[in-house]
Amino acid sequence: MEVYHGKSVFGGIAIGRLHIYNKKNIQVKRRHIEDTNMEIERFRTAKDTAIAQLGVLYEKSMATVGAANAAIFEIHQMMLEDDDFLESVENMIHAQQINAEYAVAMTSDNFANMFAAMDDDYMKGRAADVRDISERVLMALSGQEADRVETSEPVIVVADDLAPSETVQMDKSKVLSFVTIHGSTNSHTAILARTMGIPALVGTPVSLHPDMNGKMAVVDGDTGMIYVEPDSETLAKMQEKYDALQTKKELLQTLKGKETITLDGQKVMLYANIGNYKDLASVLENDAEGIGLFRSEFLYLESDTYPTEEEQLKVYRAVAETMAGKRVIIRTLDIGADKQAAYFELPKEENPAMGCRAIRICLTRPEIFKTQLRALFRASAFGKIAIMYPMITSMSEIVRIKQIVEEVKQELTEAGVPFGNPEQGIMIETPAAVMISDKLAKEVDFFSIGTNDLTQYTLAIDRQNEQMDDFYDSHHQAVLRMIAMTVENAHRENIWCGICGELGADPSLSKWFVSIGVDELSMSPRSLLFIRKIIRETDVSAEGEQIKRQYL
Ligand code: PEP
Ligand code: MG
Repeated sequence: MEVYHGKSVFGGIAIGRLHIYNKKNIQVKRRHIEDTNMEIERFRTAKDTAIAQLGVLYEKSMATVGAANAAIFEIHQMMLEDDDFLESVENMIHAQQINAEYAVAMTSDNFANMFAAMDDDYMKGRAADVRDISERVLMALSGQEADRVETSEPVIVVADDLAPSETVQMDKSKVLSFVTIHGSTNSHTAILARTMGIPALVGTPVSLHPDMNGKMAVVDGDTGMIYVEPDSETLAKMQEKYDALQTKKELLQTLKGKETITLDGQKVMLYANIGNYKDLASVLENDAEGIGLFRSEFLYLESDTYPTEEEQLKVYRAVAETMAGKRVIIRTLDIGADKQAAYFELPKEENPAMGCRAIRICLTRPEIFKTQLRALFRASAFGKIAIMYPMITSMSEIVRIKQIVEEVKQELTEAGVPFGNPEQGIMIETPAAVMISDKLAKEVDFFSIGTNDLTQYTLAIDRQNEQMDDFYDSHHQAVLRMIAMTVENAHRENIWCGICGELGADPSLSKWFVSIGVDELSMSPRSLLFIRKIIRETDVSAEGEQIKRQYL
């Protein structure tokens, strides 16, 4: 048995086999090509490599998981030999004098969109396959082996580090747990693991040797341990802990359908954080009262190009309709810093967390912002959507946002396109926004405090820097005082104030949040019922003053 210790990102027990994740790093850029015949040859070689890889996978899967599960690799081989696909790539290379990578990526998009638009569910499903095979060819063109979780059983994914764009593209049903060597507990990859509600560790000095692939292991997300090839005693102990956790989860189920209200009648809106439509299953399962933060940038990270207005509308509308009248707060894209999408072609910055990110991108590239706003305003005709703007630091940003919103509404009106009247709020996640929250409160419908960035900017600690994890103290009195000040300023202007940063799910602070009057707490869906339990056991009139003073 080998034992490694890391930093826990989310608790729980995972028992399964290891999958060593190989980083893929393909950025497709358009290049001009002189000798197109040679480029076509390069494409054909890469395609043959991909077909050969699929053949190996097919044989391996036949032996381990049987014909039915192996069939997909055979289908992918056939798709790579499809004349339409090949002709499209080769024509593009030839006619436009472009590199093979770009032609493959474009063909992939075109074909995938075509399949996705079909009525037949089976054909719709082929869109993902087209992307899959194209990615494999792209990897072959770059001389790398594609990595994806290609097992029939769910696995424990072990990696050097994972970018949010990689994590978000994984097939979640195949992942039992994440374990990474690097990575900070405050990164977006960590947040994604929490949203998925699976045990996850970062900063774990585990081996990435290919021999590790397929070994049995147990991840204990509570203690931060991973046991590789556990001895029978450890395995039995972990199985017992796993069973106990299941029982506890079942007990929490009894809180479903109950109000989130203190013993003396103070209500709290208990909302969920999500990254995409697929997270809704967990939202409903855990009885969220609304969506407090839909990180819309994941739509952009999942895509190879800017999602169109129609594509976005479809997702926002579906979320709003699924939530059936409950509030759905959609945050406008918060790209930049650790959340990078190559096609944005953001300039390389010395200090990206303090650079061009979030609302700063939207205000400097209003055409991107307007596309999203149009989709949001249109979707709000189908449910209770609220729009939230991230990374606000000054009043002038609000003024500019309002101008752009007016232009969008005007354009929609002129085009005769129906739209709703969503609430509009802002994230309070910079010290600047806290300090002028008295003024900002007069301009917006609600505040939501982003404690992840607020901690980063208040304490001057890069949330991505794993060496600084011990200094990243979101319980720092400066941070807590800022939260209290923001809530007070919001209430003075009769608007509500919530918390959607990770601190919102911190059970040691739940009573304090209630005692200072926080109106809403939004968190990963799996944390909801436990926080509801704490709030239902709190008596603000009896304990409030004492708890309040505890941190101020
Ligand atoms: C935050 O900063 O607290 C927040 C909720 O936003 P994100 O973590 O996506 O930056
Ligand atoms: Mg933030």
